[in-house]
Amino acid sequence: MLKYIDTPVTEIHDELFLTAGVRVFIKHEELNHPTVAGNKWWKLKYNLERATTLNHDTLLTFGGAFSNHIYSTAAAANELGLKSIGVIRGEETLPLNETLTFAKACGMHLTYVSREAYRTKTQKEFVDQLTAQFGNFYLIPEGGTNTLAVNGCAEFAREKLPSDFDYVCLPVGTGGTISGIIVGLDGAKEIVGISVLKGGEFLKDEIKKLVWDFSQKEYSNWTLQTAYHFGGYGKKTDDLTRFIERMQEKHSIRLDFVYTGKLLAGIYDLIEKGFYKKGSRILMLHTGGLR
Ligand SMILES: *Cc1c(COP(=O)(O)O)cnc(C)c1O
Repeated sequence: MLKYIDTPVTEIHDELFLTAGVRVFIKHEELNHPTVAGNKWWKLKYNLERATTLNHDTLLTFGGAFSNHIYSTAAAANELGLKSIGVIRGEETLPLNETLTFAKACGMHLTYVSREAYRTKTQKEFVDQLTAQFGNFYLIPEGGTNTLAVNGCAEFAREKLPSDFDYVCLPVGTGGTISGIIVGLDGAKEIVGISVLKGGEFLKDEIKKLVWDFSQKEYSNWTLQTAYHFGGYGKKTDDLTRFIERMQEKHSIRLDFVYTGKLLAGIYDLIEKGFYKKGSRILMLHTGGLR
């Protein structure tokens, strides 16, 4: 089992919240582990358990050169004494960036595939080819999202979220984490996802499917906000950069620009627009992404 550190909840004090009649809290899940840190801890938990039960000694997974999932998987494999292989989208660029330098230092073997080949990564031929090359491995999909990941995030929602809040808000990349939160809360609270992808509407169907596959239930206590992508995945605007700097200076809150910066910027805007009911307690889930 990976180490797990229990994480605090803190409140953000801002005049805007007083006028709007809401309170805003952060669940600091970015502090749950020194390196695996964040929602990826929960997405990996049952995948690691399954891999060990099946006696695998190697994890294989996929991601872009800046992927937090690659970073976390490399760290987790290292801690558990497993080998790991990272199939990276695109050509190798030297010097390696921080993510890949770290992954390599954790012992992850990096292999690069063209963008065209990467698109076929869920097909049998591609996986067979990887098996021919590397032997047996436990495969974790891109972003770590599968039903075992949903199971881990559901456990997080049941056991680690505080109970005194009305809304929980979190960033959405593949939809694995929010799906787990939805099933874990089992109809309680309102769940608000902020898509970090441009054109994130398709994620609503992904989330419905992940929730259904796991629980055979449909829930209506969640929404997905698609207007806070700031240009798309991994992109940022000057407004977003200024917002992140302001949060750091004024409130000592550390945010990344891919996920949690967009999340909190979205929460602020939704408060200004009167989205949340007056008198409510809003919980931001800090999902990590800091180095
Ligand atoms: C991966 C990641 C997400 C997105 O999680 P999904 O389960 O893919 O929706 C959100 N925040 C951070 C910091 C992440 O690294």
